[in-house]
Amino acid sequence: MTLTVVNPATEETIAELEPAGIDEVDEAVARARDAFAAWRAVGVSDRARLLRRLASLVEEHADELARIESENVGKPIAGARAEVAMVGNVFHFYAGAVDKHHGETIPVDGGVDLTFREPLGVCGLIVPWNFPLNIASWKLGPALACGNTVVLKPAELTPLSALRLAELVLEAGIPEGVVNVVAGPGRVVGQRLVEHPDVAKIAFTGSTEVGASVMRGAAETVKRVTLELGGKSANVVFADADLERAAAAAPYAVFDNAGQDCCARSRILVERSAWDRFVELLVDSTSRVRVGDPADEATEMGPLISAQHRETVASYANGNVVFRGNAPDGPGFWFPCTLVEATNADRVAREEVFGPVAALIPFGDEAEAIRLANDTPYGLSGSIWTRDGARALRVARGIDSGVLSVNSNSSVRVATPFGGFKQSGFGRELGMHALESYSEVKNVFVSTEA
Ligand code: NAD
Repeated sequence: MTLTVVNPATEETIAELEPAGIDEVDEAVARARDAFAAWRAVGVSDRARLLRRLASLVEEHADELARIESENVGKPIAGARAEVAMVGNVFHFYAGAVDKHHGETIPVDGGVDLTFREPLGVCGLIVPWNFPLNIASWKLGPALACGNTVVLKPAELTPLSALRLAELVLEAGIPEGVVNVVAGPGRVVGQRLVEHPDVAKIAFTGSTEVGASVMRGAAETVKRVTLELGGKSANVVFADADLERAAAAAPYAVFDNAGQDCCARSRILVERSAWDRFVELLVDSTSRVRVGDPADEATEMGPLISAQHRETVASYANGNVVFRGNAPDGPGFWFPCTLVEATNADRVAREEVFGPVAALIPFGDEAEAIRLANDTPYGLSGSIWTRDGARALRVARGIDSGVLSVNSNSSVRVATPFGGFKQSGFGRELGMHALESYSEVKNVFVSTEA
């Protein structure tokens, strides 16, 4: 069986690969295990230098990597370039972090107590198709900085950028076996990684459903697990906000990456007294989102990842539709930006659509806004739009979510922790926080008694 890789904007086949199976996973884990002792012993300056070299190679190949990502995911090229720039910055950050994540000395009776940060061993990194290279780098950077070796499993729909990155890893001088890529079906390759006795940790990004099965599978061998899962985040717009600014930004909070974004603010909660004005502004700004050829520099939204996914997304785009935009006819898995007026109990407001469909929901006051924002099994991201600073902080503290922004849509920065509450998962990626989950604390007591 071959793995056929398709450009979702044209439906053309762009690669045919021999998929990895269980044997390939076992071989990759064995290579990673063999490489571990030498890699953990590499001095901190050398390890940092190798990561810095990888960052530079990503920057040198930025256009090529952005084109691969754009063609394989259907991402607008300008956005793909920004993502690749972040990948370079992630490796620079973790190159700098190698010698800044360390233990402590603790005064105790009869001696001194030292703590060390030790690598875990072989880490299995399982990533989804929506931000393939970006999310891989969020795991690779801290894993390698801590001295682990890895087996990276890209999503079967989008393996190309990970395979190219693996070549750059070798070109950077990172020894063979430290980074291994296995491209194959999740239920075979992913599951084997999860169950493999020589894998110490699984760092998983994907759906909540598969995340739960990863957790179950990892329990058997007591693996460390971090899970970055789905979301149903709220964009909370108060009447005292700069409504023009909030409405201009809101489409990009949910339609970026064609809505295939775990951080998508796909529930837009609007204070009732500003409803009419805000909806008018939002319809106007949404109608100006440029949907079309991902290779065009001006394009802001491309197609969905597959025909099957488009069917799922379409099942949410009904009811009280306030706005439906234009999209190319095809070929390609196109879907228009869609705004639906809903209540928080409706299916479009409860489930992760993972497409360009937003639910517009009114609220009466601050308490109701917080209650609605929290009335979801997820807790990944969200935004609060208001000119009242104290309210912004009150609401931010009240929403059970890992990443919130005030008067902004941004969720992800290289130096700051990213991750979810509730069924959006646990563990944090990015920043210094990520290093915690790629290392163990070892405690050594040294007697000073004569
Ligand atoms: P998915 O859960 O279907 O797949 C994710 C990865 O897991 C893929 O590589 C897949 O091959 C693999 N996989 C599938 N079955 C497996 C199994 N039984 N065992 C081990 N691995 C298995 O998710 P997807 O459709 O690729 O991505 C979309 C989902 O990812 C959405 O729910 C989205 O919210 C989530 N996501 C979360 C974040 C975050 O940081 N929280 C970021 C991006 C995407």
